[in-house]
Amino acid sequence: MVITIGVLELQGGFDLHHKMLKKIGINSFGVKVETDFKKIDGLIIPGGESTTLSLLLDTFKLRNAILEFAKSYPIMGTCAGLIMMSKSIDDERVKPLGLLDIIVKRNAYGRQVMSSQEKVIFALNKERNIELFSTFIRAPRIKDYGNDVIIIAKFKDYPVAVFSRNLLGLAFHPEIDGIDIFHRMMFDNYSEFYYKKLKENYAA
Ligand code: GLN
Repeated sequence: MVITIGVLELQGGFDLHHKMLKKIGINSFGVKVETDFKKIDGLIIPGGESTTLSLLLDTFKLRNAILEFAKSYPIMGTCAGLIMMSKSIDDERVKPLGLLDIIVKRNAYGRQVMSSQEKVIFALNKERNIELFSTFIRAPRIKDYGNDVIIIAKFKDYPVAVFSRNLLGLAFHPEIDGIDIFHRMMFDNYSEFYYKKLKENYAA
């Protein structure tokens, strides 16, 4: 089956996600209006500026479309995308979508990780961790998370990649570093069955 993954093109770093999808052989499509959701089988909410993204989601009336889409299709958010997917955020200018049961703090890593590459420990499965070097740009910190949320990667003991059902949120930017593992795990092989298997892999 040929699938097409949408990349939200309201603002921010959507271009590299299109390139990454192309690299792994998946069609991509720039999502701008509600009717675009009919054309896609998964969605990426890229990084950018969450205060702006939040306003634009309202301006373009895309909130409901995303919430509906999230009921049956995979969605991945990076950085500001993760902030938008969260349940709660420490900045009242940002109205999150509440898709992932996480509480985040914007720009929480401060200057050390302002546009730097850091070592992320990614749990490939229960038995095996791998090290990835990926880019953090004024990254959000995941301060708390609910029972349904599985931590699949950490940076200095902080969760930086969280997975729940068909949703994945990343505090960093694998698309900048050419790391395709997350795009593949979300979109290469998606199905209810796959998510169940993925959950089994990670559940402690
Ligand atoms: N600091 C930005 C925000 O809070 C996110 C930065 C990013 O997406 N790289 O929206």
